[in-house]
Amino acid sequence: MLNDVSTALMPAAVYIGDGAIEVQQLPVPALGAEEALVEVSHCGICGTDLHLVLERYARPGSVLGHEWSGTIAAVGSDVANWEAGARVVLDPTPGCGECRACRRGRPAVCLRREPPDLLDFSRGAFCRYKLVPAARLVRIPDSLPTRAAALTEPTAIALHTVNLANVTPDDRVLVTGGGPVGLLTVAVLRSRGVTDIVVSEPAAARRKRALAVGASAVVAPEELPRAQMGRTVEAPFTVVFECSGHAAAAESALDQLDYAGTFVFVGTGNAPPRVNHNRVIVLEQTLIGAYNYDGTGFRPALELLASGLLPLELLIEPLDIGLDEVLPTMHRLAAGELPGKVMVTPRASSGTDPRPGSA
Ligand SMILES: [Zn+2]
Ligand SMILES: [Zn+2]
Repeated sequence: MLNDVSTALMPAAVYIGDGAIEVQQLPVPALGAEEALVEVSHCGICGTDLHLVLERYARPGSVLGHEWSGTIAAVGSDVANWEAGARVVLDPTPGCGECRACRRGRPAVCLRREPPDLLDFSRGAFCRYKLVPAARLVRIPDSLPTRAAALTEPTAIALHTVNLANVTPDDRVLVTGGGPVGLLTVAVLRSRGVTDIVVSEPAAARRKRALAVGASAVVAPEELPRAQMGRTVEAPFTVVFECSGHAAAAESALDQLDYAGTFVFVGTGNAPPRVNHNRVIVLEQTLIGAYNYDGTGFRPALELLASGLLPLELLIEPLDIGLDEVLPTMHRLAAGELPGKVMVTPRASSGTDPRPGSA
């Protein structure tokens, strides 16, 4: 337990510019009346973190990491319904309920939400303590380990993606990109009874993991056929999830889409793909984007994670890393070496034991 927060320091992985991260000792943030101070248990490395660091968008001095779970260390004076020791994640900011996006049932793109400042992730969770508004905390179900609860945010995204696409067990689905996002998408599809799922992925380790997670088949990207003008390929897909963010993968994936098929852009990337609008017209296809979460927040994701329906041990890499290994691990993730989600524990060095009481 934290006794004196005013003078305490905590280890943090700080982006220092030029694609570099350094472990520094930062002051533990001061607790406000309606806030809770959460001791981070685990924080997953997200594709967004890779973009921000490896493509150097992040603001020097910022701490990244947003896929976290933790335990309350202290609560502010006005917080009545939470106590130290509770295991929690943070629910997303709800939509306003009134703007035209919210009225159409799409709070993920609420017009009154502050625009995401991709440069300012200064309150990230690659550090020991995180300050949060207590009103937005959600309790982790008893049956779900805290470590696995760090998958809540990406699971909520995968659920939103699958819900937007209206996938049914009759669908034949292609997932391009077999990294953490693609694997979670496959796992969520399986939990919905979808079984015809092909994953296209260049890295052999990720193809192997995709099969274990529940893909019915895997292919290397170059095995996907080119479509003839105005016609589908021989075995087209009714739904495609493009999770790689690579233009070439998206262009090839568009070729695989069936008549009246639905194509979902999930992975962001630097170079935009070329879209053959003639195909979209003639085949009456639907192209959509999926971003953020359903209006129901993180509870459905927590329930799904606690349900036992997802192969958590395949979705999370077995070895957790310390703050000093965040950057080298980002490079390994970008190279496709690691299939699953890598969890960071907020200890300064991977060589040191996790702090006591971190279970
Ligand atoms: Zn994320
Ligand atoms: Zn709104």
